[in-house]
Amino acid sequence: MTRPSLRSVYPGPGGFDARALRREFPIFANNPELVFLDSGASAQKPHAVIDRIADYYRTDYANVHRGVYRLSARSTELFEEAREKVRRFLNAADPREIVFVRNTTEAINLVAQSWGAAFLQPGDEVLISVLEHHSNIVPWQLLRDRIGIRLVVAPLDGTGGLDLAGFEAHLSPRTRLVAITHIANATGAVVPVETVVRLAHAKGAKVLIDGSQAAPRLPVDVQALDCDFYALTGHKVYGPTGIGVLYGRYELLSAMPPWQGGGEMILHVTFDKTEYQEPPHRFEAGTPDISGAIGLGTAIDFIEELGRDNILEHEEALTGYGIDRLSRIPGLTLLDAGQRRLGILSFDLEGVHPHDIAQVLDQHHVAVRAGHHCAQPLMAWFGLSGTTRASLGVYNDEGDIDRLAAAIEAAREMFD
Ligand SMILES: *Cc1c(COP(=O)(O)O)cnc(C)c1O
Repeated sequence: MTRPSLRSVYPGPGGFDARALRREFPIFANNPELVFLDSGASAQKPHAVIDRIADYYRTDYANVHRGVYRLSARSTELFEEAREKVRRFLNAADPREIVFVRNTTEAINLVAQSWGAAFLQPGDEVLISVLEHHSNIVPWQLLRDRIGIRLVVAPLDGTGGLDLAGFEAHLSPRTRLVAITHIANATGAVVPVETVVRLAHAKGAKVLIDGSQAAPRLPVDVQALDCDFYALTGHKVYGPTGIGVLYGRYELLSAMPPWQGGGEMILHVTFDKTEYQEPPHRFEAGTPDISGAIGLGTAIDFIEELGRDNILEHEEALTGYGIDRLSRIPGLTLLDAGQRRLGILSFDLEGVHPHDIAQVLDQHHVAVRAGHHCAQPLMAWFGLSGTTRASLGVYNDEGDIDRLAAAIEAAREMFD
């Protein structure tokens, strides 16, 4: 059975009609007033993903890799099909380069605890940036405290973007890894990761990219980027919670020791010695989130059906509209995000605490996030303890931005 494509059901100027597309997301039918501007924290799920997970449990469920019976073989096939979809989504060369984890946080911890602990020496440097989410700071601090690496932080320029000259100046002969975000979750700053990879590789450093905010917004091609690791989290790409992805270059993964031990990751166990599987299974100890992986595969189908270039165009246009609209509100300051900002509008409203704004916005059914956005060092760089953040998804349109702006105006009057 072929069903009409999403783009033919919801035609629109940028490839699809965002407002009409809301029909694909049951949350909106169940919360008709909702203006959802918190996709940067977690995106809503289309019918297709929700139904796929339920159908999988109803018709094909069994544990993977173990059984010799047909149902288990079928389940394994679906799980590995999902891996292949992720491979295609990132344009990785080989599905064995795709490791299923719980989320971005776990992906980065895996690299720190496995690759980092095995290959870094005391005094070696990991270079991050001021833009990072705590998930790309704390794993390196844990490693620092465990083996004595140095954590070095690349600065921002005066516009809130990564200072490329400063970044280059912080690369040293001891830099072994650059771990950097693709899009900053607290400001929407897009990092020129192609240049970062080129500069880092020229100094012999590996590069890990935190793609949590980029994967739902930009086409990502790990081979073109030439990065060594790329992390993403399923719940931000319209997929389920509990599933994430670590892409790793195969030669790196195959040299890395396991970081968790147990079922699925072994070839042979005696009480003296255990032989481990090849990647990716070596890094997937225990029963994986099978339905999560399958649901993620369906989310990827959904994104690809909409078209990643269309989504990018949609997010760019709406980001531009949002900057324009919010900039006209007196007393509102948008946080700087460098040369290029995508999908995230973080702001300060003079004299009003972000939590108070968010609460007033909620009374207007506008859902945004308030606080430090798990990026306290970046907040400190701006001299703030937190902001209010609106973040965009495929279902948002200009009407949502207008509702946001009206609700901010109401908050401003209330606290005046
Ligand atoms: C959300 C986010 C993370 C953490 O994702 P989890 O799913 O909570 O592990 C890391 N980095 C960035 C840039 C994020 O936006």
